[in-house]
Amino acid sequence: MAVTVRKRLLLQAGHVAPREPGFPAVGTDGEQELVSAIQSRLGKLLAADLRFDVTLCPGAIPDNWNGDLFLSLHADGSRYRQSSGFSFGFPPGCSECKRLADTFAAWYVQIPGAPNRRRDNYTTALSGYYGWRRTFAPAKLLVEHGFLTNPGERAWLLGNVQQIAQAHYEAVLHYFRLEWPESPARNRKRLKVLRSWIVKRRKAGWGWGRLKRTHNWKEWRRRGGR
Ligand SMILES: [Zn+2]
Repeated sequence: MAVTVRKRLLLQAGHVAPREPGFPAVGTDGEQELVSAIQSRLGKLLAADLRFDVTLCPGAIPDNWNGDLFLSLHADGSRYRQSSGFSFGFPPGCSECKRLADTFAAWYVQIPGAPNRRRDNYTTALSGYYGWRRTFAPAKLLVEHGFLTNPGERAWLLGNVQQIAQAHYEAVLHYFRLEWPESPARNRKRLKVLRSWIVKRRKAGWGWGRLKRTHNWKEWRRRGGR
């Protein structure tokens, strides 16, 4: 049996209680509700995919967490109503974090009406986030999804929670270079095609050694064929 090591992910809903000791900020009006909703939907998508081991947390980060990816979900606020755009925070100099940020951006901007991207780490709150010190993972990312203080952007954010979660999920798959999950029905259909291909080759006198070197045999095994 093939052993698959699950990717360990920590999804944090920013500012949600219980908060990190020493970091009492409650965030922008509506931020906790928005990021909790994104966390919940993204968490479900990842939990349904057996390649991931996902943990959800509020503002307080579990001690000594280590894994493959730490994601902190936030939304921005400003006293200027016209401020807009999404942005990323990550530990300065982390190239995997930058790759993760660029991957997230590529999917995020594909949602119709998505905000524009601002500069990475445009505040010290982003580059110096406490979560960077509290977690151990090769890739860490804080997502400021857009400005809740901008009426148009606020409406877009609140109206696109499912699309945002889906975009993040697809970005995670792409970041880890994982294949698209398939429905069981589609997998069965493909197994049937591969099985008949294998049976035909056997009937034509192919030996197991030759057969097992083929891509089709390998795919058959990978998909759970026996
Ligand atoms: Zn925040």
